[in-house]
Parts: sequence; C-alpha cells; structure tokens
Amino acid sequence: MKKQWIGFMIAGMLVAAVPTNVNAEDCYHNWSYSADYTKLDDTYHQAEYYCYYCNAKKTEKEKHTWLYEEILEDQYDANYHTVQYECMDCGAVKTEKQAHSWEDEDYDEYYTYYYENKKYHTYEQKCEECNAKRELRAPHRYFSFYDKIAKYATFNKKGILVYSCIDCDGTKKVYKKWKSGTDYSRNYDIKHGTVFNRQTSITVKLKRPSKGTVLQATIGTKKYKKKIKNNKKTVKLNIKPAEYGEKVKLALYYKGKKIGKDSCDYNDEVWYSNRVTEGMTQKQVRYTWGAPSSTSSSSYGFTYWNWDDGSMVSFRNGVVDYWFDAAN
Ligand SMILES: [Zn+2]
Ligand SMILES: [Zn+2]
Ligand SMILES: [Zn+2]
Ligand SMILES: [Zn+2]
Repeated sequence: MKKQWIGFMIAGMLVAAVPTNVNAEDCYHNWSYSADYTKLDDTYHQAEYYCYYCNAKKTEKEKHTWLYEEILEDQYDANYHTVQYECMDCGAVKTEKQAHSWEDEDYDEYYTYYYENKKYHTYEQKCEECNAKRELRAPHRYFSFYDKIAKYATFNKKGILVYSCIDCDGTKKVYKKWKSGTDYSRNYDIKHGTVFNRQTSITVKLKRPSKGTVLQATIGTKKYKKKIKNNKKTVKLNIKPAEYGEKVKLALYYKGKKIGKDSCDYNDEVWYSNRVTEGMTQKQVRYTWGAPSSTSSSSYGFTYWNWDDGSMVSFRNGVVDYWFDAAN
C-alpha cells in the first residue's frame, strides 16, 4: 500500500511537469510505475501503467510480489503450521504449509517428563513458531548408581536396590544377590573373646545370628563346628584345651559358603589363663596379670613381683613358687 501511494506521488509530479498534448501514436512512451494492481489468480495480478507524455494506458500480467507476512499460530496439524504471505502490490493473500520447528531435544530442561510405564516416560515438545505440541516418549534414564536400598540382601534372600529415572519420577527395582562386603548386603561377621590355654569352650559373638548357619572355629590344627539354631547373639563352642600361641580362626558358613569372617584383629592366639599357678614362668605371669609395678630379689634365687592391687608372686629359680591374687 505504501508503495502504491509513492507511485501516485511520482506519477503525479511527472504528469504535472510534462505537457500531455503529445499524440499517442507519435509518443515513444515513458511508462509510469504502476499504482494500480488487480489480483487475477493465485499466481498473477494485473498492473496498469500510464504514459507520462501521452496518457496512454497499458496493462501487464505479472506475478505477485509475495512478502512474508506471519505464521498463523493456531492453524496447524501434526506436522505443519501455516505461513501466510501477502502480495505487496495487490494485497492478494496465500498460505503455505511449513514443517514445525520442534524445540531442540538436547535442551531437556525445557521439558516436564511424565512416567508412562516401566520402560518409558513421555514429554511434550512445543513448536517454536506456532502453538503446536507433540508428545514424545523415551526410555527412562538411570544413573549407574542406585539411590535407595529397599531391602538388604541376606545370605539366603536377594536384596532390592531402587534406581530413579533422572528425568521423571519413575523407578526401577534391581534384585541383588548377597555379596560379602557390599553396602547392600547384611554383615555376618563374628567376634570371639580371648582364648586361654585351659579353656574348654570359646565364646563367640554373632553380628546377625541366623538359623541354619554353621559356626566354625579353628584353633591350631583342630576344627570345631556348631550349627546355629536360635537367635542368641552369644554362642559357646566346646573345645579341647589349646596350646599357648595357637592361632584362633573363626568363620560362619551357610550351605558350605562362607558368609561371615572373624573380625578380631587381636585375640587371634591362645593366651594364658588369667589364673597364676605354680610353675609358671615369668613370661607366662606377665601374659596373665600384666607387668608388675615393682620387683625385688633376694638371695637363694627368690624374686618378688608386686602389683598395685596388692597381688604378688614369688618366683623361685624363675618359676612361680607361691602367689597371692588380691582380685579373688
Ligand atoms: Zn506516451
Ligand atoms: Zn499481487
Ligand atoms: Zn509449528
Ligand atoms: Zn523416566
């Protein structure tokens, strides 16, 4: 419209400046810009021109001069939206379909994800030009680590780990077999007290007493077994008197599979009894009562050890001759 108006101005000025008394047949014509267009069909309009000199008129069939107009935001289907163009000369209008330009899928923070089923979530993508939306589905995405232990694995039952989808609130459960040392597996380790050389039983503490498991103690070369039948945390295992310094090892088994180990990093040897008896060496007494607070010697091969609680031991020629135990 604006151009038509300018056309009128220019034509008007030139017409005013040039006399129009020239005979049309003699005129070499100087055609104006057209200011008058008529739409003919979807491809053509007709333009009218006037000669500046003789006022002769001619018409031309010309193609529309399409000018991009706008996207009709509410006219769309699944794949296309509508772009409307207008001829800048005659005002004719045409529309064309144009593929949607869907939001870039890499920018997933655009989206809100909805859980659909075990495998998929859905999200809605928008056309950047019109109001079209489409629903897409994608498989859930899980980090390689789980976010919850729903159930701890035990030696005879699988545990359940829960993974959450990074995008939606979907979760998946993964069943895991018990495996020693993993954070989703129950711990069946065991502990024992000090084993003295004259003991006829050993006391073992079970972290998780479980029926059907078998406690095995190895003391020196001897092996002892006991089947666990209740939920008591403390178990006594009968043994034959062991030798000082023999190694003590414990393990817990279920159907031949080792499920718990000895978590003692001390007390793994047989010690002397806490009772001092005649004939013990100084080394054995030291193991039994600890180091004395004072010692003294006399002639005839006597040595005396004294402790703060009043206990004392008298050694003759290096072995216990008599003693006094203040604690008993
Ligand atoms: Zn002319
Ligand atoms: Zn046109
Ligand atoms: Zn669109
Ligand atoms: Zn998901």
